[in-house]
Amino acid sequence: MLLGQKRILVTGGAGFLGSHLCRRLLNQGHEVLCVDNFSTGTRRNIEELISDPRFELLRHNVTFPLFVEVDEIYNLACPASPIHYQFDPVQTTKTSVSGAINMLGLAKRLKVRILQASTSEVYGDPIVHPQTEDYWGNVNPIGSRSCYDEGKRCAETLFFDYHRQHKMSIKVARIFNTYGPNMRPDDGRVVSNFICQALLGEDITIFGRGEQTRSFCYVTDLIDGLDRLMNSPEEVTGPINIGNPGEFTIRELAEKVIALTGSQSKLVERPLPEDDPKQRQPNIEVAEKLLGWRPTIKLDEGLVRTIAYFDALLREHGKKITSETRVRADAFV
Ligand code: NAD
Ligand code: UDP
Repeated sequence: MLLGQKRILVTGGAGFLGSHLCRRLLNQGHEVLCVDNFSTGTRRNIEELISDPRFELLRHNVTFPLFVEVDEIYNLACPASPIHYQFDPVQTTKTSVSGAINMLGLAKRLKVRILQASTSEVYGDPIVHPQTEDYWGNVNPIGSRSCYDEGKRCAETLFFDYHRQHKMSIKVARIFNTYGPNMRPDDGRVVSNFICQALLGEDITIFGRGEQTRSFCYVTDLIDGLDRLMNSPEEVTGPINIGNPGEFTIRELAEKVIALTGSQSKLVERPLPEDDPKQRQPNIEVAEKLLGWRPTIKLDEGLVRTIAYFDALLREHGKKITSETRVRADAFV
């Protein structure tokens, strides 16, 4: 291997964020071992990477131990969209908790640095706004989102206990809503839903009144933040918020998507899911200070790029993707 070149494990590497991360690491000259069980990831996301001799793919479920030799680990494996993580909630908690134990165990044996993809969901339905890293959150432990929220919270606990107990080198990123190309049309998260609905001329499904807020980060900014965190000084463990502080209501997002696509779609209200957080906005002062990071892509620009991606995807599939096929869009796997 060349000087500075590392062998890097990315769990969840065939997913939305993981596929962008794999590409970035390959572009930097590293070798990448992508581990994924393809529960929500797709071959399509990594098909361009397969021909690269420095890219290796292993189908594996992180709830089982993994024996490989690598220099660094990014632990991203976990479904991130509410409809997907609630499909098999027990598996979701196992993925976060047993997956963290297995990947931390691997990092401990190899004495390598490990980064955890945590989430703004650790703040639950936040009372502190914007959310700072020292806020402990407002989380329901027994609701339908708990498999994800509490699983991710327990994973953070494990990372910090391994750090204290075994002196391991850890990094914890709290990722806020991120969007962009390589999301599945049936991902179920709001940006991909609204764009596909607008492009297909279907109703845009606003859950509740659409007054709840989210802050949307474009994927390239997010990946840059993860890279900077992984390569930050040893004492920078996080947790660090990585997200775009621009805050929008869901109704504002829907109106933007309609305007940018020129769609005739209508906005329709649907029941608000249980425990849906009312507001979410990252305070990113820590990331700015310790990582020199701040997002650069505004929502309109990111949406235009994402619309172009879904437009091409829908054309490729001959507009066969409808709401019905999207819920089981095997065509994209
Ligand atoms: P995604 O669902 O597109 O990707 C997750 C990947 O993990 C998929 O490829 C899936 O097949 C794989 N996976 C799931 N369970 C697995 C298991 N048991 N073993 C091996 N692989 C498994 O989601 P994403 O948006 O790319 O999210 C990636 C990570 O970032 C997740 O850990 C998620 O919690 C975190 N995150 C994402 C966001 C966001 O807005 N995208 C926000 C907060 C946190
Ligand atoms: N949402 C919506 N319509 C959709 C999908 C989601 O109004 O078709 C809302 C959802 O209720 C939530 C917000 O958009 O208030 C973001 O949802 P998403 O699933 O993208 O992420 P999360 O709730 O985890 O932030």
